[in-house]
Amino acid sequence: MISAKSQREIETMRQAGKIVALAREAVAAAIRPGVTTKQLDRIAEKVIRDLGASPSFKGYGGFPASICTSVNSVLVHGIPDQTVLKDGDIISIDIGACFQGYHGDAAWTYAVGNVSEEALRLMEIARCALFTGLEQVKAGNRCSDISHAIGTFVEANGGSVPIDYTGHGIGTQLHEEPAIPNFGPAGRGILLKKGMTLAIEPMVHAGKPHTRVLADDWTVVTKDGSLAAHYEHTVVVTDEGYEILTINPDKEEDAVYGQAGCH
Ligand code: MG
Repeated sequence: MISAKSQREIETMRQAGKIVALAREAVAAAIRPGVTTKQLDRIAEKVIRDLGASPSFKGYGGFPASICTSVNSVLVHGIPDQTVLKDGDIISIDIGACFQGYHGDAAWTYAVGNVSEEALRLMEIARCALFTGLEQVKAGNRCSDISHAIGTFVEANGGSVPIDYTGHGIGTQLHEEPAIPNFGPAGRGILLKKGMTLAIEPMVHAGKPHTRVLADDWTVVTKDGSLAAHYEHTVVVTDEGYEILTINPDKEEDAVYGQAGCH
């Protein structure tokens, strides 16, 4: 049973989402050649804790850090370490924060210095896939309408999506029902209802869709070594559409964070 959240719960999730957005902003400002992924992890954790929340990922299933830092062919779940970012890398930053028992979850891919045309194009496809999927979020639509929109958009633009990693419901648990794949037919799955809270997260490969997990049991890479990008917002379903929760509402330009040039 997937429950809609109450107004009080949604308000708490807005606060969790704002903390995620502020951590994202701090990390984004620190991304440059020469910085280590561990330094980015410390920056995010400090923002999250200073604002009275805790990092959702730390200890989740034994994950050893506060954020996921996934560089180049790493799709998701990269562990922050002494890896030094260099000019031309791309890095996906996935951040979760738990505030008063409710989670926010968001991811974004960033260019480190000057990156290739191929990397820029991949990032654009994955970013716009997020907003293409979000267009299907409204009360009365089916869950797989989101999946279908993302999958067809990515395929039409020459990318591929992994089959084994999905978006998800979110609330008092980081991962709740339903799973929201990034591909598949429309018109299936649960009916979306006002107040449901979802993390929509297209992951896109420049090459083939296959993945493998490294020996650390976390780091997911593209099997063919191609670049990967990952964009995610936590949203609440409304009658008309959706409201993005993983933004800073005090910044006007954050209201549609990342949507420029898409839909
Ligand atoms: Mg997520």
